[in-house]
Amino acid sequence: MGLLSLGTPLSWSESSKYNEHVRENGIEQLLNSFCGAAGRDGDELYWGDEVEYMICEFDDASENAVLSVKHDEVLVQLNTTYQAECDRQNVHFHPEYGRFMLEATPARPYKQYEGVEVEKNMRVRRAVAEQKLKLFGDKNEVVPLSLTVFPRMGRENFTNSEAPWGHKNAASRSLFLPDEVINRHARFPTLTANIRTRRGEKVCINVPMYQDVATPETDTSIRERNWFVPEDLESARASKPGFIYMDSMGFGMGCSCLQLTFQAPNIDKARYLYDTLVNFAPIFLAATAASPVFKGFLADQDVRWNVIAGAVDDRTPFERSVPPLLPKYNNEYGGIAPEDVASALRINKSRYSVVDLYLGGNQFFDSKYNDTEVAINRKVFQRLVDNEKFSFDEDLARHFAHLFIRDPLVIFQERINQDNETETDHFENIQSTNWQSLRFKVPSQSATPDNKSAPGWRVEFRPMEVQLTDFENAAYSNLIYLLVEAILTFDDKINAYMYMSEVWQNMETAHRRDATLNEKFYWITDFAEGQGKTQLLSIDEIFHNQRSGIFTNFINPILAHKGLIVKSWTELKEKTDNEDLIRLYYYLKLISDRASGKLPSLANFIRTYILNHTEYDQTSSVSQKINYDVLHMSYRITHYDNSKNELSGLFGEELANYLINNSIL
Ligand code: ADP
Ligand code: MG
Ligand code: MG
Ligand code: MG
Ligand code: MG
Ligand code: MG
Repeated sequence: MGLLSLGTPLSWSESSKYNEHVRENGIEQLLNSFCGAAGRDGDELYWGDEVEYMICEFDDASENAVLSVKHDEVLVQLNTTYQAECDRQNVHFHPEYGRFMLEATPARPYKQYEGVEVEKNMRVRRAVAEQKLKLFGDKNEVVPLSLTVFPRMGRENFTNSEAPWGHKNAASRSLFLPDEVINRHARFPTLTANIRTRRGEKVCINVPMYQDVATPETDTSIRERNWFVPEDLESARASKPGFIYMDSMGFGMGCSCLQLTFQAPNIDKARYLYDTLVNFAPIFLAATAASPVFKGFLADQDVRWNVIAGAVDDRTPFERSVPPLLPKYNNEYGGIAPEDVASALRINKSRYSVVDLYLGGNQFFDSKYNDTEVAINRKVFQRLVDNEKFSFDEDLARHFAHLFIRDPLVIFQERINQDNETETDHFENIQSTNWQSLRFKVPSQSATPDNKSAPGWRVEFRPMEVQLTDFENAAYSNLIYLLVEAILTFDDKINAYMYMSEVWQNMETAHRRDATLNEKFYWITDFAEGQGKTQLLSIDEIFHNQRSGIFTNFINPILAHKGLIVKSWTELKEKTDNEDLIRLYYYLKLISDRASGKLPSLANFIRTYILNHTEYDQTSSVSQKINYDVLHMSYRITHYDNSKNELSGLFGEELANYLINNSIL
């Protein structure tokens, strides 16, 4: 997203009157985009990453590390005063949900394989953000860290806001998060409030608590309050023994991630790429696990995904097929207008979730693989398959008709009426609040075959947890790039279709603590054979097995195709006359060694650090001092500082030494 347009966002009671208007016009905008862009072909494999950071402040006097809600001005500066400087260095900064967050991308996408350039670009982004934050001249150190989750988010003193509870947090009504954590732009508090209002209750997230010898039976941070009725009465019912309870959007959208977007040559290949990546998403969620703590408690899971899913789950009790928490105050239709109650659907997943449907449209696809129950908007489906502009096939129509079961969450007063021939805000309103593990990005109406200045058909890979170092983030980005190039190059031989229900199960499995070491996932037995045949494999086997492994079937063939190796990526280690190929070797080695369990995941590493901390008291609780030390350690690792042997602990001796001796800037 670019810098945000100004305007007046409507509250739920106002905006919901326009739900159908947004959907109806959004679909016309989609049809017009297809008219414009369906014929595009031969588009370059452009691609780019997005890295998210948390601005953290170290208060050494009180030994506390906090999220800074006071430095968001830096984002404005990066897009005004420093805009030219950023552009020259090919970096661009974007707003995110949290006032303490930054997102950064290359200003211009990469073109095909760029290897180490990706890491250099990430390094520049971090250096620019660090430098500009320093210019604020605070007495405390203020730094951007690419942490997936801030360990003590939602506990006492977790921000640098002076009086977070000096006023009521009306947008979220959270027991734990003041509204100061939310981006100041009116879109974000409105989004927060509208999700809650539509749902009819605060959002509710229960993450299993890590069970240690002195772990309390319930989440001890829940407290009584009587600012908001009924919201303040909900936690007693919504929280569960043995779980960490969270009650607001910021717990999820305040997590960071690493996303990648790839342009395919044409729409058919984009659909094929999307479908082929479907089951890689849960695998790479597990493989990048970096979230062992939520709200100051060790969790019995390793990733952020279901926390975000819960954090933006605007479904009413009826849609979720459960009774309302407090029937005295809420009915099962939440904030749905009375005239819309009759058409309410049962919806089995949050709008933030694993993908629902394959897109199809190629020789390998069979509709039987879409074997899960997925609600669709019938009216939208009918319009897409039967209209005078562009006829969709049923599989593609079903995808968009599913996205369009959702209501728009934020509508700007000034943007209600749009030109469907040239604008796409109504379509994007629905599309961009369907946060799935992959996103099928549709070109605009102007992206005609001869207008290559407008982006074409793109697929976004969204599951990965962001890592502390640019080296790691570049490693995962390059690996996924090579995977995508392999898929697009060997497209006549790779048939990755399997039953969607197995992909959904993989997504659940990916959450479990140390899933990389202990769990098994459904994985294709043989990509050449197809037939949807899978077997249950460990992450190690998924990466390394001879017949269907990621290295053996995707990475080695594409590296050989590019003439970089003969048989195996491990040959790259011998390319001592080419520093860039040596670095590629270490990117792949990091991922391979984590997959085989030789190196810990970041989640495992941080958990182990906490469990061994002298102040840890076996209650699963992460104190202010432990949090402070975790953050300091994270900072050292980010800067390849091995003074406390932490770099060696996370990366092993060989890789740690390589990183110390081979800084890229
Ligand atoms: P969003 O937040 O909607 O995913 P961003 O603009 O934050 O979008 O990120 C999009 C990513 O796609 C960036 O890394 C950008 O460099 C990259 N990108 C831009 N143009 C193209 C293109 N034509 N094809 C592929 N990727 C692109
Ligand atoms: Mg973005
Ligand atoms: Mg983002
Ligand atoms: Mg985003
Ligand atoms: Mg994105
Ligand atoms: Mg969904």
